[in-house]
Formats: sequence, structure tokens, C-alpha cells
Amino acid sequence: MDSSIQIGTISGIPIRIHFTFFLIIPIFAFIIGTQIDLTVALVEQVFGLTEPISTEYITTGVMPYVLGAILSFLLFTGVFLHELAHSWVALRKGMKVGSITLFILGGASEIEDEISPNPRDELPMAIAGPLMSLFLGIVSEGVAYASLLFIPNDALAGLFFYIFGYLGILNIILFVFNLLPAFPMDGGRVLRAILAFWLPIDRATKIAAEIGRIVAIIFGIIGILSFNLVLILIAVFIYLGAGQEAAMVRYNLLLKGLYVKDAMTSPVKVISPDMPIHEVLALMQSTRHLGFPVVERGALVGMVTLQDIHTAPQIDREALQARDIMTREVVTVAPDSGLYEALRILAPNTFGRIPVVRDGEVVGIVTRSDILKIMELQEVRVTTT
Ligand SMILES: [Zn+2]
Repeated sequence: MDSSIQIGTISGIPIRIHFTFFLIIPIFAFIIGTQIDLTVALVEQVFGLTEPISTEYITTGVMPYVLGAILSFLLFTGVFLHELAHSWVALRKGMKVGSITLFILGGASEIEDEISPNPRDELPMAIAGPLMSLFLGIVSEGVAYASLLFIPNDALAGLFFYIFGYLGILNIILFVFNLLPAFPMDGGRVLRAILAFWLPIDRATKIAAEIGRIVAIIFGIIGILSFNLVLILIAVFIYLGAGQEAAMVRYNLLLKGLYVKDAMTSPVKVISPDMPIHEVLALMQSTRHLGFPVVERGALVGMVTLQDIHTAPQIDREALQARDIMTREVVTVAPDSGLYEALRILAPNTFGRIPVVRDGEVVGIVTRSDILKIMELQEVRVTTT
């Protein structure tokens, strides 16, 4: 999360901007700028204008790029309001909202997910974003129409008509696109929530994910037949998203009610910072554990894994101690943390084990394979009962 900066808070929610977001404004400004004539024609067509608008301030000089920049800024303000709408509903439903981050592909709200989302909460939360986009679209089109009616100067009326007319179209595209019934789009969540009124949540997720896959395949076929690269990319994005969502919900259900203390190895073998590397290696061979917490005067100071030994320079290996090669910034969990939470920490990172710490003292270690084993056992239990 170091690659994003916080720009403020709204309703207690930290608002962050990812560095990729700063790239998208000039890119969009350029794209809109080079296609200005096409987009002017599009807006005229949508409003069914029989007479073209005055393009005096629109297509001359650097204006296309200036307008491109203004439009991309307004569009992403819309994306931000879309995310804010999700977050506001989440807050009202008593969920915690970690942050809202704007990045190159749009926005993301980090909303604490429930073990089994209640459709009464999930449905309004999922639909709030697209409804905000629809609202912004309608308001923009209203402003565009009013500009033609009430601004007496033709050139100025044309300028406002174009900006708000096109902004409205973009927001309505956002509305439609987000409501595609496929994860990770909002429409996937809306569909799952509707199904969950009648079905258990994992069945609902499975069906929603299947429908998402079908939508992805249809998009892919249309994309290939029409040589549309954007459509093909969207298809791949949706197809992968569907599988991921289904897997996470499955894990969530299997690990429900289980804590780190249920899966951890305890007591755990710890080493001191001055242990020579060859001794650490020997310990790994004799215990067949591939990582050890490093403890100095009772406190965790680091973690040594086989990976750390591999990356240590070969020549110095004889002279090195655990402290020289250990990873100092160690992510830890508490014994009472949920097992699903521990899995979420383990899954995206390369490290396969987390030390379990209670009141500053290392009381165990939990590995990805410990959690996978528990899930396999749970699967048998769930499917046989
Ligand atoms: Zn959304």
C-alpha cells in the first residue's frame, strides 16, 4: 500500500490515490483529444440533434486535449462517487470500511467482508454504486440539454453541451458495465444477493460464478469474432474473477468458526539471532521445518526461512548468523484471529508461514499447508453431514 497516498478522509473513510491513477488522466485526455470529432458526433446523435452544435471552442488548437483532461477528471470524480456510494451503504449497514483507493482501472472500496454476507445488506450495498453512476449520468444529460436551451452564446452552449453530454454517456456506460451479472463486477454481487434470498450463500455464489463464466465466454466469442481486443480482455478479467470469488467464499465457509490456535503448531522451535547459518540449516534438515522465528530476550525480532538462506551470498555463508539474513519486518497473527484472515495474509504473499504472537511472545506458527489440511478435513465434514 506504499504506492498510494492518502488525500483525506470522508465520513471517517481514508481516501487514497494509487500512483497509477495519475497516469490515467493524461492517457484519457490524449484518447478523448484525438477522437474529439467522433465523440462530438456521438453526443449529437444521442440527443437526436438535427443541426450540429457550434464547435468553436471544442475542436480548435489545444482545446481537444484540455477538454480531454477536464472530462477524464470529471469521469474519475464519478468513479469516486460510485465507490463512496458503496461505502456509505456499508457504513449504514454496520460494516467497517477500510479505505477507498483510486487507481488506473477505477476505484476500489476495501469493505470488511462478512463470513456469509446477508443478502439484505449485500444487495443495497452492491447496487448503490451503479445507481450513483446512473444518477450522475441522468443529471449530466439534464445539464447538457439545459445548456442548449438556456445559454444564449452558441459557442459556449456547444461547449457545455459537449462536456456534460459526453460525461453523461460515460457514466451510463459505467452503470451498464458494472451491472453485468459477473464477478468481480457489482452485477455479480447483485445477482448473488438476489439468489441468496432463496439459496444458501455458497450455492448462490456458485451459481452466480457460473453465470459470470457464461457471460465471460459470450464476451470472449463476440470479442474474437469482431476482433475487439478490449472485449477479449474484459472476458478474461471476468472469467478469472468468477473463479476467485467462488474460491474465496468456499474457503470462508470452510474456515468459519475456526481460529489460528486450531491450526497452529505449538510449541514452536525458535532460534536466537547469533545462531550460525549452518546450524540453522542443520536444524531445518532435522526438524523438516522450513522457517524459524528469531527471538531475542523473549521478543520476536525476525524470521529465517530456507529462502533467506538461499539468497545469502555463498562465500560468507560460514561466517553469517541468523541476524544477518533474517527478515526483520515480520507479519504476525494472534491465536484468536480467524483462520480465514490468516489465509488471506498467506495467499497473496510469498511467505508460507506466519508466527503466532500473544502479548509479544511467540506461541506458535501457522503455515499455508496447515490451513489447507484443515480445509480438506472440513470439506469431508461439510459434504458428509
Ligand atoms: Zn461498484
